Amino acid sequence: MNKIKITAVTVYVTEIPVRLMRRHGSGDVAGTVKNAILRLDTDAGVTGWGDAAPWAVFTGTIEANAAALDVYLRPLLIGADPHRIEALMAAADHAVVGHPEAKAAMEMALFDIVGQACGLPVAELLGGRCRDDIPLSFSVADPDVDRDMDMVQRLYGEGLRLFKMKTGFAGHAADLKRMERFRKELPADAELRIDYNQGMDTHEAIRQLRDVEAFRPTFIEQPVPGHHRAALAEITRTLDTPVLADESVFTTSDALLVAASRMADLVSIKIMKHGGMMAGRKVAAICEAAGIACYGGDMFETGIAHLAGTHMIAATPNISLGCEFYQAKYFLERDLLAEAFPIANGRVVVPRTPGLGVRVDEDRVRHYAIATRT
Ligand SMILES: [Mg+2]
Repeated sequence: MNKIKITAVTVYVTEIPVRLMRRHGSGDVAGTVKNAILRLDTDAGVTGWGDAAPWAVFTGTIEANAAALDVYLRPLLIGADPHRIEALMAAADHAVVGHPEAKAAMEMALFDIVGQACGLPVAELLGGRCRDDIPLSFSVADPDVDRDMDMVQRLYGEGLRLFKMKTGFAGHAADLKRMERFRKELPADAELRIDYNQGMDTHEAIRQLRDVEAFRPTFIEQPVPGHHRAALAEITRTLDTPVLADESVFTTSDALLVAASRMADLVSIKIMKHGGMMAGRKVAAICEAAGIACYGGDMFETGIAHLAGTHMIAATPNISLGCEFYQAKYFLERDLLAEAFPIANGRVVVPRTPGLGVRVDEDRVRHYAIATRT
């Protein structure tokens, strides 16, 4: 193993226009998304890239994450050996509390460097792939229902079979109408999943979710606020449909609580919630011990973070419910990868090239950058 040193840290704050409107139980995303893109240069001539994709109503803010990378994590990285990923991530947790998105960006850039330096894809560094591709889920989240259904039909034609309808923002009757329309207009092999993003009134949840079960959803995600844990447990016990916890599970301690009390049947793993691939795998391992299968969730990421998520899922058997890495191809005006994020026949294809596996288009990063910190 050759010694390598990190010689420069650059943080770009990018603002990329989006092509679709997304509405969720927790808020809208429209117009543009802002990400903190991390570039790490080394004395070996290898460059690693990371992406922090915060969402202010869910994980954190772009301002705080750009500052976490620039002010608090930069001193740990300059001069460091990128091979020492566990030690550097422990130092990151010691240097600044929270900011899981900034830590995810740091970790993926380190893995990107090490993978390129030793000629292995990140999935192989994590223990080796147990799957070569991952079924892709699209989020049915456009308030314009006609436009949404056109998109769903188009994606079904491209081979997608997983569709996650965002609910809990327009009232129960409107939600049921959209579900009815989906079931009427899509063939039977189109899987319907439901995500409330905490949007239900907790006291109404069980009665309303009994109506939802008639549309045979694969699972119902986070119906009530993340901290309403006793209510989530009761919903899980009462419904026949599996319940998936997302906003309720950020840390390994959260996962332990969910697993020990069987608060949910399933859990969403997101590198932006947990603070990286290794942290995500710890959450998935705790879930595995309780027979809780996991799903590959994401935030409003560029292809850079999608790639990290893809390698994590490829190397983690218990993240078995597919992934929702559709933003790079279908949501952003343009992605930051030089080649298209790899999707074929409705599945994400796990790269076989070293590091994260797809080159970043640096000109495009600079084009979308509204601030650069070196
Ligand atoms: Mg969710």
